[in-house]
Amino acid sequence: MSSTAAIQVQGLVKRYGAKNAVDGIDLSVESGEIFALLGPNGAGKTTTVEILEGYRTATAGQVKVLGFDPATKGSAGQKWRNQIGIVLQSTSDAADLSVFETISHYANYYENPRNVDQVIDEVGLREKIDAKARELSGGQRRRLDVALGIIGSPQLLFLDEPTTGFDPEARRSFWELIRTLKAEGKTILLTTHYLDEAQALADRVGVINNGQIIEIATPQTLGGRNNAPAKVTWLENGVTNQIHTKDPTTEVLKLSQRFGGSVPELEVSRPNLEEIYLKMIGELR
Ligand code: ATP
Repeated sequence: MSSTAAIQVQGLVKRYGAKNAVDGIDLSVESGEIFALLGPNGAGKTTTVEILEGYRTATAGQVKVLGFDPATKGSAGQKWRNQIGIVLQSTSDAADLSVFETISHYANYYENPRNVDQVIDEVGLREKIDAKARELSGGQRRRLDVALGIIGSPQLLFLDEPTTGFDPEARRSFWELIRTLKAEGKTILLTTHYLDEAQALADRVGVINNGQIIEIATPQTLGGRNNAPAKVTWLENGVTNQIHTKDPTTEVLKLSQRFGGSVPELEVSRPNLEEIYLKMIGELR
């Protein structure tokens, strides 16, 4: 295990009755890294994350988060908790406070909170600053959750499906916020069902299925993505043609010679992370 790891997990098991929801996971997230946990419904992502957050206890295995076991935290207690930001999968009950009041209230719990106004802008809730939390739409509530997760200026941020219910524009703004936090040196562990989100943000992704890690890799190399054949498509005689090839450059050159210049509606693409992920999961079924 690396000494710079923010999260270290070895042989993690969580049993519910006869079922191992988490079945021997090894994982290490480096300080300053964005790591995305991917996997189908019920794979064990939330269980793993909530053990790391100290909300669930492990059946077996070793876990260290910022140097402490979240189940005991040793003497670190509140100090440890203050360095960790959490956005849970389910939103908390909306209080009767306004957006501004809610975020300010949470800011008081921390030694060095981020600026409340800045956070409101960062999550795109400026127009709703005086609205009561219970009056927000689902996506706006989720933005408030994210605001509460980052207000304490945490060193390590857990985000469990943070952008569920976000419209596409809000999702892009959220990605920018995550990049800003990374530039500040924060470590981020996120779970998501949006493969484009993982592709856009993560330094590494880990795929979980049935409580076990299937593969940990960069989004570029997962499932051999970097070596996957490219798809070349073009229009010829009114019909779209396609071939899969390991050497698209040669194919494009040949096509260009055949057409005597530009190739109509030429496109060269490699499988995106979602296609690779679906293939991986599909092969396990
Ligand atoms: P999703 O993508 O749907 O959020 P997930 O990967 O986060 O799924 P978990 O919530 O970790 O999955 O659940 C893993 C397994 O553990 C599931 O089979 C679930 O039914 C089971 N499980 C989770 N929490 C409990 C619990 N409190 N009691 C019993 N079984 C549980």
